[in-house]
Amino acid sequence: MATPRADEDTVVSVIRGAAKRVTVAKRTVAEVLASAPGHLTTDEITLAVQERLPDVSPSTVYRILEEFEELNIVVHAHLGQHAAVYHLAGAVHGHLTCEDCHATFEIPADHFDALSKKLLTTYGFRLDRHHVALSGACATCQAVRHATIATRSK
Ligand SMILES: [Zn+2]
Ligand SMILES: [Zn+2]
Ligand SMILES: [Zn+2]
Repeated sequence: MATPRADEDTVVSVIRGAAKRVTVAKRTVAEVLASAPGHLTTDEITLAVQERLPDVSPSTVYRILEEFEELNIVVHAHLGQHAAVYHLAGAVHGHLTCEDCHATFEIPADHFDALSKKLLTTYGFRLDRHHVALSGACATCQAVRHATIATRSK
């Protein structure tokens, strides 16, 4: 069963449970992440936080994200050549990223079950399904590539 992503109240209770201070900045970072539809870079998180709290510096946001990761509230991933992106921890999923248009797609982690098992039994290697995206070409870009080749060969 899929675990829903945490909301800001869950985040706040985890911070309290770890005997850390709950600051307005931390609460705001949690709100920004909870209301985001997908993956945010640190720059995007910082901008959204600063809209509400202009005095919060990028380094503060960075430290908050680090603390949230240590508490397993937040996870990050690398989608292609871009900066790491963050979201609240929840159901583990995989990422696909298109090298042409840089679109990213979330896919269910169970697509990796067979590969994951094989890597573990053959190499003793434990796959991290979430951390780094698989790269390739999305359906739209493949169609564009085919169309370009077809036009050229006329
Ligand atoms: Zn993700
Ligand atoms: Zn990383
Ligand atoms: Zn594409």
